[in-house]
Amino acid sequence: MVPRRPPATASHLRPHLFAQWPQLARRLRSADRVALFFDFDGTLVPLRERPTVVRLDPEVHLLLRRLARHPRVTLCVISGRRRADLRRALGVSEAICLGLHGWEGRAPASRLRRLRTIVRQVHGLLSHQLAGQEGIWIEDKGAVLGIHYRGASPATVRRARQRLLRALVPFQPNLRLLSGKKIWEVLPQEIKDKGAAVREVLRDLPSRTLAWVVGDDTTDEAMFAAVPRGVTVHVGKRRRTHARFYLRNPGEVKELLQRLEAQLYRRAA
Ligand SMILES: [Mg+2]
Repeated sequence: MVPRRPPATASHLRPHLFAQWPQLARRLRSADRVALFFDFDGTLVPLRERPTVVRLDPEVHLLLRRLARHPRVTLCVISGRRRADLRRALGVSEAICLGLHGWEGRAPASRLRRLRTIVRQVHGLLSHQLAGQEGIWIEDKGAVLGIHYRGASPATVRRARQRLLRALVPFQPNLRLLSGKKIWEVLPQEIKDKGAAVREVLRDLPSRTLAWVVGDDTTDEAMFAAVPRGVTVHVGKRRRTHARFYLRNPGEVKELLQRLEAQLYRRAA
């Protein structure tokens, strides 16, 4: 599914989340149930060239643990990473962790194994076609391939993209391409977007659950669109988004966690 093109909201017209805090805090205190959805890279942690070097700020880790243990809260982190990798990097056992854009952790593992076969073929082809392209590397995530280009020159990126698109032609319509921040991802069609994961988590919660969604990338737009009545927060600068509010960076997301924790535990006290 291709998400709807986000509305052309100029960033200066979209309010900063903290500017609306008193009203949002009231909604938080009065909600019977709160579902907090976070993306990981670029949202809870700053982006790094290699996802493996990312470390969660110990204070953010503690805040997330406190929030996940709150009796009225469901905490869910949805990432493009593998689920095991995400769980390790997050280290919050009480949180729902969903990998591969919300698909891994919901679908049975047997389906994942089946999808691996086709993705392996593409991996073989791409390893050959992208060999020697400086700054480009392929991450094998099982049923998904991540092609990172953070360190590559614009000319190399253009060339690599052409080769990638050409390599995918024989695999249509079974595979699709997803573009994120300095990454292209090759996914089987049946791996849906993060919005499908959000809707599924919310289905198991009471209908009046207040949802908060925080993310930084184009792949998070589907999550924002999935909760039209929720509190949606885009992290960073972008002119087009489905989110209603913005925060500047993961540092401000940390402050959001502090504010959420203070509000939720204040009511419980
Ligand atoms: Mg992200």
